Amino acid sequence: MTEAAPTRATWPIGRGLRLPGLALAAMSVVLFPLHAEDLPQLTVPVRVHLLHSEQEAAVNTTLTEADVARIFGRVNKIWAPAGIRFEVESTGVTHMPGGGGALPKERLLKNGLNVSYVKNFAENGFWSGQFAIVKDTAWLKKVPGGLDEPIPRVTAHELGHALGLEHRQDVTNLMASGTTGFSLNESEIKTAREHAAKFAAAAAER
Ligand SMILES: [Zn+2]
Repeated sequence: MTEAAPTRATWPIGRGLRLPGLALAAMSVVLFPLHAEDLPQLTVPVRVHLLHSEQEAAVNTTLTEADVARIFGRVNKIWAPAGIRFEVESTGVTHMPGGGGALPKERLLKNGLNVSYVKNFAENGFWSGQFAIVKDTAWLKKVPGGLDEPIPRVTAHELGHALGLEHRQDVTNLMASGTTGFSLNESEIKTAREHAAKFAAAAAER
């Protein structure tokens, strides 16, 4: 799938500037709807699973609930420019019967997102379509202006997939694979907000 070009470049910015003050103010809301201060906050519930397996020691994350709180503090800073906040609904140990494969269905949060932490995994992280897996030993290629800690960045990246985003292989952005970058462009913010709004609405109905 190809990425849409940044919409701002094609917007008639110059025309807007010739309009008188009030009209300009009204136009600017239409033309630049994606600045964080203009965006109503969307809160997406997330259940965090600390994976544990009796059979497979490589599964067993050593992260704690305090680590998760700190990680999501940083995830929410990354996502703040999109007006999206991830609220940890609960953090608990999820046992993996057999040591691998899918999370037990009855443990998954419905109408919200699920993030699981694991000690070792083939990739830094993965979005399965139902839940995210993040390796607590994740390693990223450093890029200028990137985040200094891999786990929050990988978590924020996988949540990006969960909110409908594809990869964008540019070294400074969140949806690039395997780097510390964390910026979002306007079309990504728009797409992520459309997905986040569904979870936010479902959470409000609970
Ligand atoms: Zn990815």
